[in-house]
Amino acid sequence: MIKVVKFGGSSLASAEQFKKVASIIHAEKERHYVVPSAPGKRFSDDIKVTDMLYECYALASKGKDYKQSLQNIKDRYNSIIDELGLDLSLEDQFKIIEAGFVGRSGRDYAASRGEYLNGIVLAKYLGFEFIDSAEVIFFDDYGNFDAERTNQVLSEKLSTIEYAVIPGFYGSMPNDTIKTFSRGGSDITGSIVSRAVKADLYENWTDVSGVLVVDPRIIKNPAVIRTITYKELREMSYMGASVLHEDAIFPVRKEGIPINIRNTNAPEDEGTMIVESTSRKSEYTITGIAGKHGFTAVSIEKDMMNSELGFCRKVLEEFEKNGISIEHMPSGIDTMSVFVNQEEFVNKEQEVLAGIHRNTHPDAIDIEPDIALIAVVGRGMKSTRGTAGRIFSALAHAHVNVRMIDQGSSELNIIVGVDDSDFEKAISAIYDIFVNTQL
Ligand code: ASP
Repeated sequence: MIKVVKFGGSSLASAEQFKKVASIIHAEKERHYVVPSAPGKRFSDDIKVTDMLYECYALASKGKDYKQSLQNIKDRYNSIIDELGLDLSLEDQFKIIEAGFVGRSGRDYAASRGEYLNGIVLAKYLGFEFIDSAEVIFFDDYGNFDAERTNQVLSEKLSTIEYAVIPGFYGSMPNDTIKTFSRGGSDITGSIVSRAVKADLYENWTDVSGVLVVDPRIIKNPAVIRTITYKELREMSYMGASVLHEDAIFPVRKEGIPINIRNTNAPEDEGTMIVESTSRKSEYTITGIAGKHGFTAVSIEKDMMNSELGFCRKVLEEFEKNGISIEHMPSGIDTMSVFVNQEEFVNKEQEVLAGIHRNTHPDAIDIEPDIALIAVVGRGMKSTRGTAGRIFSALAHAHVNVRMIDQGSSELNIIVGVDDSDFEKAISAIYDIFVNTQL
């Protein structure tokens, strides 16, 4: 059995955290490959090393005084090394990094050094081999991740190494420069490594005990989701739930490898299993609730719209021409509504409206801003009667006016649109009816 274990920044923010991580890794010999993030925040006002690196690079590359900024980064690593009592010096590494900063090796190079150095420290502490991700994770000339080349090189390399540390977040371009994934990208590296070694499990260790049913900023101490499918998680992340980097699902999905979200600070908690499919029922009929503010509804009215060939296409074309992507599109007999991101739309609204008028000659167009969308996600809804009924009666009891309803054809989610100002009230009401009042 092979497990790949990825540890997030807060799990590796201090020597104390490193000790927890090492005891987790050593507790199971199946934990062969370790993917670390850079040291994250030790307390809420702390600064992540990745952000310190961006800042230091900005100074150095503009010829400004970066010395103190660099020293602060060295101090973060040195305090970890000293407290762990390691016989290790990063001085030579820091000389190369400093020269790279002054010589403008790029922001990505700068940011990647957080994971790179943390990987060296962790490998030394664990007694595992260190592998520089620049040698095994590749991007193509356009900066896109080169999945197949990476998989081939990485699986070949790891087939000869039993235990290794592979830093997260970066790889290399064909011209040997360093490129990073987007923020939070160490999750992707963990997934890539899992695919390459055909792992039985990808454990993603963080500072919460799994994926939560709802945002803890809205409901205090919400329930943890025990099992969620990749698809359900996609729905939740798209609507704002942040646990795992969105792109981290794709490499493991290719091999059907489950992901287990675990808590470094509470290793006894089982966490959340993210799987391709499951016969396990969700505990609460629904799996989770997620939502986002800031949508605008554009409603177009025209008598006999339905019998006019190509009407929808002509409307949608106007959004496309202006680079606005469409979130939802509920329609009636003589009306259609298009939900778009308010911020994206606001600068283009007059162009879009003029275009729709010109091409479709509607009877009226109405714009309503400040709408929030809430997704109630759950594979169990398909086979459970009354889910929608419970959602809407909960909202009615909470005096929330529902502005839009959309049930995806996969019956994996029900999306409701409410006024921005009703957002939290609506989420609490839905949480209450499913989690607190289990029928
Ligand atoms: N250190 C990087 C970040 O802060 C990548 C990661 O932690 O996954 O975004």
